[in-house]
This record gives sequence, structure tokens and C-alpha cells, in this order.
Amino acid sequence: MITLRAGGDGRPPAPGWAPIVAVAVLLATLSITTTTVAEVQAGRFTCPRYGVQVIASDPADARDACSGAAASLDFLVAAGLQPARPIVVEVVPELPEAAGPTAAGSYLVADNRVLILPFCRFLAWQTWFEVPIDRRLYRSLAAHEVAHGVVTYHFSMAEPSIQAQEYLAYVVTFASMPPELLEQVLEALPGEGFAGEERITELFYLFHPMHFGAQAYRHYLRPGNGVAFLNQVLAGNALR
Ligand SMILES: [Zn+2]
Repeated sequence: MITLRAGGDGRPPAPGWAPIVAVAVLLATLSITTTTVAEVQAGRFTCPRYGVQVIASDPADARDACSGAAASLDFLVAAGLQPARPIVVEVVPELPEAAGPTAAGSYLVADNRVLILPFCRFLAWQTWFEVPIDRRLYRSLAAHEVAHGVVTYHFSMAEPSIQAQEYLAYVVTFASMPPELLEQVLEALPGEGFAGEERITELFYLFHPMHFGAQAYRHYLRPGNGVAFLNQVLAGNALR
């Protein structure tokens, strides 16, 4: 989910997605399994990869945030989307009201802040993507919000649409899931994928955010879409 608090700031032009997404998916799969984190001061952790910082009171949450961030960044970086700013994931007991009552994480565009709830609070959702909450899904939550924090600086326009931002963040989220979780989630959220760009709407996202994610990922996988479509979204030629 993304929380817009002010107008977009100036973003550099999109560098384009390199056609090596399959490699990125493999890397993401490998990297999401183990992570050790260094606690540099009380409640502040440095992840072993990409220099990601995590602020958390529970080291287990910090480890998962690092794993999710690394999986997300493996995909993004391999696709040519380097983080423009340092990534700091904050595990916070409450999200800002603007995030809405159903959000478990949020990216605050104006402040460039990546926020997620602690795992113990996330459990109250019971399911995410229609699958019972577990640590794998918690890592995916971190991956999703980190994806927002990276792609936001690669749009060629100052204020991309909600559907554009969520399409990209969900594609990264699904692409960075371990294979068995991805299979489980897609089975729990059946569908053929969005039939066309006009079906990918803000309204659909707001009413069915989980289905939106699954449908977006299937749309992305369809021949002719993939990297080319991601580029169109970033350039403002699609999902405006
Ligand atoms: Zn989102």
C-alpha cells in the first residue's frame, strides 16, 4: 500500500528494465531463505545486503525485514532499478492513520519512509493473500513496501496513479516470493490475470487489493507484457 501525503517530488527519468527478469527471480528465491543481521545499536539493525537499515524492537522482525528487502532489491536491481535513496524499514507498533485501518504496511511517499507492523500485530490479519499468516508472508510484506520505496523514484512523472504504483509493487512482491509460497498464493486467489490495461483500476485495487496483486502478476507474466509493460508504466504510457 502506498500513502500519499503531498505532491510527488522530482523523480529522475526511468532507466528502463533490463531483460534479465528470470535471473532476478532466481536470485530472489535464493536470497530470501537466510539472513543474519547486525544490531548496530539498540533496536537498529544493518542488513547484510544492500546496506538496508531496519529499526525494530524484535530481532526476528528485523531479520525478516532484511530478507524481504533483499529479495525485493534482487529483482529490482537486476531489472535496472537501483534504489535512489538509502532504504530504512521501520517496524512500528501503529501505522499513520492515513494508511487506513486495513494496512499492515505503508510507504509514505512525501517522507520516503517504509513502515511495517511487527509480526505479532500482523498475525491479527489471520490471512494475507488468502493464505494463513506466517513469517514468509511477513517477508513479502516488507518486500512490497520496499518495492514502493524504490520504484517511486523511477517514474518519469511526478504523480503516478495508484494503480501504476500498486501494479509495480505487487509484481515485485510476487516475483520475490519463494516458489512454494507463490504457488500457494496463486492457488488461493484464482484468476486469469487482468484481461487488459483498462481493467487495472484504482477502484479494483481499493476493493480487492489481494486479488489485484494476483491478477497484476498474471497480467505481467502474459507474453507481450512482462518487462515491456513495466517500462510503459514507469514511462507513464500505461496505467496513467
Ligand atoms: Zn502497496
